[in-house]
Amino acid sequence: MRYVSTRGSAPILGFADTVLAGLATDGGLYIPETWPPAPEHISADYPTLAAGVMAPYIGEEVSTTDLANLCSGAYSTFRDPRVTPLVPLEQGHWMLELFHGPTLAFKDVALQFLGKLFDHLLEERDERITIVGATSGDTGSAAIDGVKNCSRVKIVILYPHGRVSDVQRRQMTTINSPNVKTLAVDGTFDDCQDLVKAMFNHAEFRDRHRLSAVNSINWARIMAQVVYYFSAIQQVAANGESINNGVSFSVPTGNFGNVLSGWIARQMGAPIRNLVVGSNANDILTRFFETQEMRARDVVPTLSPSMDIQVSSNFERLLFEMNGRDGGLTTEQLQRFRTVGAFAVEADQYAKWLAPVFRAARCDDEQTTAMIRDVFESTGQMIDPHTAVGVLGGRTFQEDGVPMVTLATAHAAKFPDAVERATGKRPELPAHMADLFDRPEWVTRVDNDLAAVEAEVASVSGL
Ligand SMILES: *Cc1c(COP(=O)(O)O)cnc(C)c1O
Repeated sequence: MRYVSTRGSAPILGFADTVLAGLATDGGLYIPETWPPAPEHISADYPTLAAGVMAPYIGEEVSTTDLANLCSGAYSTFRDPRVTPLVPLEQGHWMLELFHGPTLAFKDVALQFLGKLFDHLLEERDERITIVGATSGDTGSAAIDGVKNCSRVKIVILYPHGRVSDVQRRQMTTINSPNVKTLAVDGTFDDCQDLVKAMFNHAEFRDRHRLSAVNSINWARIMAQVVYYFSAIQQVAANGESINNGVSFSVPTGNFGNVLSGWIARQMGAPIRNLVVGSNANDILTRFFETQEMRARDVVPTLSPSMDIQVSSNFERLLFEMNGRDGGLTTEQLQRFRTVGAFAVEADQYAKWLAPVFRAARCDDEQTTAMIRDVFESTGQMIDPHTAVGVLGGRTFQEDGVPMVTLATAHAAKFPDAVERATGKRPELPAHMADLFDRPEWVTRVDNDLAAVEAEVASVSGL
């Protein structure tokens, strides 16, 4: 498989180069030249299914045996044998639990695989990399856990001191591994992001330490998420539900990575009817689906912080497709977005690509709390605030004769305060994490200062 950039002027790359590059040199995102068909047999065994769905995107660059081993290794860390189990919510409405990985959020599904894949590709090339990233919570812990046992990857994660939740911090700082460093920066999340950007712009430093990123624009993360849409449909059918009219999905959305993976599964031929994009008060995507115009506003903090996003970077891949894969037009629209804060899409393109598939819902904090309470009172299940946004979208767009699956993106215990406020009961951490608050922490406090942070990165990179 060959990969092209959404901005149209970066070199066409193969799979391994695409994964290791992350962002394209023209600032675009890589996307496969074509959408391969779904595998003929949808295995009920998750690692086997994962290898089957991903193989056409990888081609000859990873052998069949190696890919099978990467998948079984990555998903052996999940506590449920089905990896992403489907559970009933109410009549015709299900939840796909994506939070059974090591850090209790859906990002584990992609990052457990990505860590193994990086190590494998680097081994073949006899290269090493140093991943640096800034986190406001979930991504940092999932990335650290994904690479903590990799021999060729070092990772340094910056987070704003005193500004992440206790669970989120401890999931990062209790990992004691020689290739992991967690830095508590005296500053905000934006300061952390600026420091990371400054390191990437410092060319000599970047090249010397082989800096790399694992943010959600990496193609391998999107690809790994396609798998569970197939798994969900397989599980719905195995429950005796008819999938003749397709299955709809409701997806709590921030960067548009998760729901884009669903759209890709549909392009591959999965029987998906609608994809419901769920937003919190940061509803740029919902407003886009209502008005066909993408217009930025300020980010407001909500109960679902992993969706407090202004610009959904993965939307660019869908935009490129809508534009008939015209990189020049895509570049132009994004330029307009950066300079005047808005761009619109043509009505006919919208009608062709988006209207038949996408639905959009919004759920403010009050509705989020009400939804957590309602699900608890009617089913006894505790859902996290992100999942609550999804459940509202799922209920809004449920149709007779079409099973609806809401993606449950985090474990309730990851956001215990919001869940306790809604239900009156504090969700408990799963058994393997019950001692999280007793484990020692390994963290380095640093000033909001580039030289100080670079010294820490150099000390762990060893390059
Ligand atoms: C990252 C995240 C999301 C948003 O996913 P995107 O792929 O960015 O749309 C939703 N819920 C949780 C819990 C997350 O961690």
